[in-house]
Amino acid sequence: MKEIDKILNTQLSDIKDQGTYKNERVIETAQEAEINVNGKKVLNFCANNYLGLANNNQIRQAAMNAIKEWGFGLGSVRFICGTQTIHKELEDSVSRFLNKDDTILYSSCFDANGGLFETILSDKDAVFSDELNHASIIDGIRLCKAQKFRYKNCDMDDLEKKLSQSTARIKLIATDGVFSMDGTIAPIDKIVNLAEKYNAIIMVDDCHATGFIGKNGKGSAEYYNVLDKVDIITSTFGKALGGASGGFVSASKSIIDTLRQKSRPYLFSNSLAPALVVACLKALEIINLNKNLLKDLEQNTLFFREKIKEIGFEVMGESHPIVPIMIYDAKKNVALSEMLLEKNIYVIPFSFPVVPKDQARIRVQLSSIHSREQLEYAINAFKDCGKALNII
Ligand SMILES: *Cc1c(COP(=O)(O)O)cnc(C)c1O
Repeated sequence: MKEIDKILNTQLSDIKDQGTYKNERVIETAQEAEINVNGKKVLNFCANNYLGLANNNQIRQAAMNAIKEWGFGLGSVRFICGTQTIHKELEDSVSRFLNKDDTILYSSCFDANGGLFETILSDKDAVFSDELNHASIIDGIRLCKAQKFRYKNCDMDDLEKKLSQSTARIKLIATDGVFSMDGTIAPIDKIVNLAEKYNAIIMVDDCHATGFIGKNGKGSAEYYNVLDKVDIITSTFGKALGGASGGFVSASKSIIDTLRQKSRPYLFSNSLAPALVVACLKALEIINLNKNLLKDLEQNTLFFREKIKEIGFEVMGESHPIVPIMIYDAKKNVALSEMLLEKNIYVIPFSFPVVPKDQARIRVQLSSIHSREQLEYAINAFKDCGKALNII
């Protein structure tokens, strides 16, 4: 065995000893409300498949037609020979959806965030980042030369204190639209007020909101009626918008033009595959036309949140389909998830270091495709298991 393997094996056994080693559960079917795991049918409550589009028939058909018409791959980055008509159409369609000048596609939102900050900010500028921001925002900010400030999660006093101390040329506030471990929506209305007071601009990563939060699913800024006050929106096609992959930045023309010229994950990484592009166009079309998806998701969310509280569990957040069920104790948390799996409920327990110490929780994620029966079955399972483990 080589030295590197010995070192890594020691590190891996440490992770196992700490109980934070992640075993991937293998699912044997397409992504649906009901999936097969280890030959067993289970109800899936942990996908980001908020609108049930991951295995939507129209979207599958669009992807298959796209392969026939546009081919499987492009074998090029965008600026060499990797831009087809459909890439421009998808960028225009996202821009219209979010009411921004222009949009630029990336292979993922991780790449979009990774290529954003260093491209538009210099050492004359400053970035103010929420402490719970997604890893890709943190990494993206690390790459840039701007001064870096980290404010306490959704703490507007702390943000204001930091903004007021800065004399930077450009001040950029960066936040997740939705904090995915807590199911809370960032106070973007208040961030807009501070941005106006201190002449700052705003970047929102709306991965857990695009397509389903806000009256028309335009995200967390629409939720507060301030869509036009948010300067930069980054998001993913890998969650509500079909769940495949791809990400984007939507913003003013000058910001997007600059990203096309200089953003490294855009310049040096392959174009999105045609099937994905056309399928994502279809996903946006479906969301624009079929308001029932949003309604079903909202009703499922309200129903589940109300019932789970009624039987005695404590939950976080207010209205988001991410419902963190607080168990606090990490061992009880794991025991609950295992007992639920025996009752064919597939949920994942989260504990330190993914969430703060002694804040262990089960994160349930709802989808528009969960039926009322499935939700009732899940509530009953939570009730039985919660009682058996003396949690409720
Ligand atoms: C999921 C997620 C990402 C990553 O998106 P990908 O397209 O899967 O790379 C980035 N930011 C936030 C807030 C996310 O939830």
